[in-house]
Amino acid sequence: MAGNRTLTIIKPDAVANGKTGAIIQKITDAGFRIVAMKYTRLTTEQAGKFYAVHRERPFYGDLVKFMTSGTVVPAILEKENAVEEFRKLIGATNPANAAEGTIRKLFAESVERNAIHGSDSDENALIEGNFFFSELERF
Ligand code: ATP
Ligand code: MG
Repeated sequence: MAGNRTLTIIKPDAVANGKTGAIIQKITDAGFRIVAMKYTRLTTEQAGKFYAVHRERPFYGDLVKFMTSGTVVPAILEKENAVEEFRKLIGATNPANAAEGTIRKLFAESVERNAIHGSDSDENALIEGNFFFSELERF
């Protein structure tokens, strides 16, 4: 059975460009409930750990630098079939390939500076939610 939670991060490009409010509006309009949310900054160690699956990729160093370059807004979101539904809402990794109306099509600058993260599985949604939020915050 598909899970009902996912983890998102509004990335430093979108926060710096003043798109946080518009993105949250898109998320809630699409029927996601915000379980937990905060403004925070990632250390190099945290960003490196968060994207550790990509550590062998040529873009890893730049990705970690980008993710630590400014404020981010992580959030736990709830909806039926949340992981898949949310990835549909954000669109393809590269905004050039993202469908019309998706968050990345509307707000992303490039394949790296792509405005928003969405968990890719129920298992990672749980790991990532635990990474950012305490047990009480996740309740
Ligand atoms: P995310 O995990 O952030 O939701 P995603 O699952 O769509 O994105 P991944 O393949 O997991 O895509 O890549 C993680 C992030 O690494 C991307 O969101 C993007 O910021 C960056 N990235 C991915 N591919 C490239 C690339 N070819 N060049 C530069 N940056 C990239
Ligand atoms: Mg990913």
